[in-house]
Amino acid sequence: MNNPNIDQSAVFKLSYGLFVLTANDEGKDNGCIINTCIQAAENPMRVVLAVNKNGLTHDMILKTRKFNVSVLDESVPMEVFRHFGFQSGREVNKFSSAVYGAKKSENGCYYLTEHTNAVISGYVTDTVDMGTHTLFIATVVKAEKLADTTSVTYDYYFKNIKPAPAPKVKGWVCKICGYVYEGEELPADFICPLCKHPASDFEKLV
Ligand code: FE
Repeated sequence: MNNPNIDQSAVFKLSYGLFVLTANDEGKDNGCIINTCIQAAENPMRVVLAVNKNGLTHDMILKTRKFNVSVLDESVPMEVFRHFGFQSGREVNKFSSAVYGAKKSENGCYYLTEHTNAVISGYVTDTVDMGTHTLFIATVVKAEKLADTTSVTYDYYFKNIKPAPAPKVKGWVCKICGYVYEGEELPADFICPLCKHPASDFEKLV
């Protein structure tokens, strides 16, 4: 399954932001964490998102075509990643209360006003099936700066936000979220119960 020519640690050197992606479908609100949102064209302004197909937010956007991207800043606590990233909207209502200053924009989707510095509302015009992910190509219908704070990067998250693994435990740690699997051998088909990443994203605790 793992390609010996691909060093995962090389891919981690790519720079990414971290964002809360939100959707609304017939009164149902949901959101998830994504690390890929780029401005891809200027006029009209377009963005491209890569979204894991396993999530409910993915399916909602595929259907409704509308979304908000809340740009997280460096003040974001781990709890935001746990809330939006490590549980499924199929099991919990992530917007049961006004979380992190959530407000609705004109497209009916929530966005966050806490730990964020901008919100971008998009309308999907094209999709590309990427296997594990769908690329959503979208026109920006509204964009608003919320604060002058520094946007959080994936690198900053790894170095400053993700909790360090518990010491003296024999097992494997998820490089994405820090979940620790206790045991000598990690099953090849293991899926992280928190962030849903595969066994290839785990490393052995030494
Ligand atoms: Fe994980």
